[in-house]
Amino acid sequence: MTSVLARPANRRAPNQLYIDGAFVDALDGRTIDVRDPHDGSLLAAVALAGAADVDRAVRAAQAALPGWSRTPPGERGRLLLKLADAIEANADELAMLETRNTGHPIRDSRGLDVPRTAATFRYFGGMADKFEGSVIPVEPGFLDYVVHEPIGVVGQIVPWNFPIMFTSWKLGPALAAGNTVVLKPSEITPLSALRIAELMADVGFPKGVVNVVPGYGSEAGERIVQHPDIGKVSFTGSTAVGKRVLAGAASNLKRVGLELGGKGANIVYDDADLDRAVGGSLFAIFHNQGQACIAGSRLILQERIADAFMEKFIAFAKTIRLGDPLDAHTEMGPLTSPLHRDRVLAYCAVAREEGGEIVLGGKAPAGDAFANGCYVEPTVVRARPTDRVAQEEVFGPFVSFTTFADDAQAIAIANATQYGLGGGLWTRDLSRAHKAAAAIRSGMLWINCYKRVHPGSPFGGMGASGHGREMGFEAMRQYTEPKAVWINVDADIPPFYKR
Ligand code: NAD
Repeated sequence: MTSVLARPANRRAPNQLYIDGAFVDALDGRTIDVRDPHDGSLLAAVALAGAADVDRAVRAAQAALPGWSRTPPGERGRLLLKLADAIEANADELAMLETRNTGHPIRDSRGLDVPRTAATFRYFGGMADKFEGSVIPVEPGFLDYVVHEPIGVVGQIVPWNFPIMFTSWKLGPALAAGNTVVLKPSEITPLSALRIAELMADVGFPKGVVNVVPGYGSEAGERIVQHPDIGKVSFTGSTAVGKRVLAGAASNLKRVGLELGGKGANIVYDDADLDRAVGGSLFAIFHNQGQACIAGSRLILQERIADAFMEKFIAFAKTIRLGDPLDAHTEMGPLTSPLHRDRVLAYCAVAREEGGEIVLGGKAPAGDAFANGCYVEPTVVRARPTDRVAQEEVFGPFVSFTTFADDAQAIAIANATQYGLGGGLWTRDLSRAHKAAAAIRSGMLWINCYKRVHPGSPFGGMGASGHGREMGFEAMRQYTEPKAVWINVDADIPPFYKR
């Protein structure tokens, strides 16, 4: 099977399932058309995994587990480092693939997504032989040591908003810790994960260690969640599906990691450096067309500076270059699918119905250049904190704003959603910043910046944003089972029962 996606050196994008070290068709031969959201053109017909394909991927992962889990951690790490190098060596091609499949502007795919993907694999490559167990200071005469063993076969489910980057966030720690994997990319954006699988084969990962099965959530996804031989499912996606995953994983008491939705509060205090706050807040919401769980989608502005801030914010937002994501100057591309574009536009209608004031955008852009694409203009809406558009995740270039009188009110508004993932605040007052950082319920908080991520820094949320953390030592812990081993090292210590 071949795709129509143009590749450097006439190579073809892999578009089959990757199982047991080989690219194969789905057992029932089904495929799904994967399209470019800029113009709707067909990129590839990709094999679509059903439950039976997941089952064979799990069998391959099980067969690979004894070998991989006993591979010296340094050797596992070396392969991850080689993969990072291979990603960098193919960075332009991967960025192009990601841009065409997702609509991310090429400057972002090339400047952020692909470098971050390589950096994550490199970080966990380095981590593999440095993640140590411990010795617990118990009573004299006993040695109690703790080793961290791999969980086994891990199922990983990835959304469509940052597909290449999330593939590395999932695979990096799981593989470094010695697990084998069945990874399901979104059916909308499977191409970069399949290409990563190909690069893994090239650098020498043994067959079966990683299996990639693009498929629908209701079929392949559900099967991963239900599969009795999968020990953990790590899910990134919507809160609604996250709840199903948690319930389904009860079938065999799987471990579950949930990275779910968000509604990031972004507070601008009256002592903030307004120009920096404007620039950072634009990035917070409009980067990746707002399709980010950590997007700063709620602007909470102190009354005294609200007008001045919004004037600058709107003036700047009007200059955002919307267009073909392959154009190096483009700052905002299309949303990733027509269905999602319609969902975001429906929220513009909700804003109007709720009496919100749309001060910018609120519609698809006019003109031939946008006619066949999934474009939405940068949209700014004045809304009450309790309005649906200020409570529900829109997941698009859509920001609501409201004002506050004092610090206590700012925190109350920030905390008044079901989510708790990422948030930001802008102030020059250190004490104010620390007080707010302690009071805001979120897994990540950025002060005078927004959306900073690093492979070493724990990433995840609370409440409806899920639980568990990716990245850093936290991720390694969450992909391992601690085992406590007790040894009686003093023959004189009597057993509890004796005669
Ligand atoms: P989604 O929940 O619809 O799908 C996510 C993945 O789950 C896809 O691969 C999908 O095929 C699969 N899936 C769907 N139904 C399933 C089921 N019943 N069982 C198992 N798998 C199933 O989400 P989406 O629309 O692809 O992604 C957007 C959502 O992801 C947003 O809510 C966003 O906030 C969230 N997200 C969260 C994070 C985070 O780290 N917290 C990061 C990115 C995106």
